Amino acid sequence: MPVQQGLGETAVETDEEFRARLRAFFADHHPGRPPRDPAERLVWTKAWLATLFDHGYAGPAWPRAHGGMELPFARQVIYHEEFAAARVPGPLGTGLNIAAPTIITYGSDEQQRRWLAPMLRGDVVWAQGYSEPGAGSDLPSLRTTAKRSGDEYVVNGQKVWTSHGQSADILFALVRTGTQESRQKGISYLVIDAHAPGVDIRPLQDLTGGHLFAEVFLDDVRVPVADRIGEENGGWKLARTSLGHERAAGSMNQAALYRRVLTELEELARERGLLADALVRDRLADFEIRVRIMRYNAQRIIADILLRGEPGAASSVSRLLIAEFEQDLHEFAVDMLGPQGLLGKGSPLAVQRSRWLQGFLRTRASTIGTGTREIQLNTVAEQVLGLPYDPSMPPR
Ligand SMILES: Cc1cc2nc3c(=O)[nH]c(=O)nc-3n(C[C@H](O)[C@H](O)[C@H](O)COP(=O)(O)OP(=O)(O)OC[C@H]3O[C@@H](n4cnc5c(N)ncnc54)[C@H](O)[C@@H]3O)c2cc1C
Repeated sequence: MPVQQGLGETAVETDEEFRARLRAFFADHHPGRPPRDPAERLVWTKAWLATLFDHGYAGPAWPRAHGGMELPFARQVIYHEEFAAARVPGPLGTGLNIAAPTIITYGSDEQQRRWLAPMLRGDVVWAQGYSEPGAGSDLPSLRTTAKRSGDEYVVNGQKVWTSHGQSADILFALVRTGTQESRQKGISYLVIDAHAPGVDIRPLQDLTGGHLFAEVFLDDVRVPVADRIGEENGGWKLARTSLGHERAAGSMNQAALYRRVLTELEELARERGLLADALVRDRLADFEIRVRIMRYNAQRIIADILLRGEPGAASSVSRLLIAEFEQDLHEFAVDMLGPQGLLGKGSPLAVQRSRWLQGFLRTRASTIGTGTREIQLNTVAEQVLGLPYDPSMPPR
């Protein structure tokens, strides 16, 4: 986020004292295990985010002016490690990782005051309305229109794969304010009240049987012009900022999370006497190496953001590493458990409430969401390796 200061910050508290302070906070305020029912879980998560905010432990990378911690590099790493170790949830919805950096960079002072702190506290859930049925990888072809009518826009169209759409209070959406032919030059960035008349949010069922995402229908939805971020028709630049941050944001806490998950998988292999198998040991060693690489790459991203204000193409590298890692890890876990690994949550014989099979099913989407594997590879080829742009794509 282009808002962090602090690489050279000197603090009275040492890193180890900071770690101990976080642990003491978790010992006093740990919210316990989340409820299984999705509605109860939402209330539980919001209460936890409010606790974090009210005690000054929300938004490690956010500026203090907006309620964040503005932590220097090493502290952000420790923060994510301790959250993963304590098994407490992080941010809710896509707002904190994607919309927030955009608002901090391009929003007016009034927009920042109105939107940021309630988002960080978990009072208001934000969801990302970029993708459409005909506009995923080729986002500039999006067709949802916003026609100006006085000091409002009238929005019509459809969004799809909106993560947390069914819990959303606000949608941050890309809409067409120019002609269809203008492609990325005719796109604006609107903040839409998800409870406004004309917004219809329908949950979609995913492979696990849950409802991670929704489709959103927008029918003559009126949005104040004051809720546009940046210039009219200037939304593409903002979208690129938020996409970069989306890929970057998950990297540190995912790397920390998978450090813990890998240890749990090793324990499971030990308990079941599988560590004697050289093939099992070989795969676990491979995962160990990859989880360390993920951690170093995540640190590189935080350093990039602190020094240059942008995550850069390392975020695409990170997204690729994590997505492929989590797919491979869960596939291996299910294989390792044999037929028992295929038992669902309802079976009394399921191992650890079927968490590895659920993870296997859930992570099938990892190489699609936030940009497909092929799109990340294109970015790495062009922006990291300096290879020529894809000639089949329009000039950027
Ligand atoms: C779990 C999950 C959560 C999501 N959450 C959100 C969300 O909250 N908000 C939101 O707006 N969207 C969300 N999405 C949508 C996601 O961003 C899109 O699915 C993704 O961008 C791919 O778009 P598409 O599905 O239209 O596939 P397409 O773009 O149609 O791609 C189809 C295939 O063609 C390949 N392809 C396309 N173009 C190229 C190219 N130039 N070079 C090489 N290969 C190419 C792709 O890699 C893919 O294999 C989510 C998706 C998932 C799976």
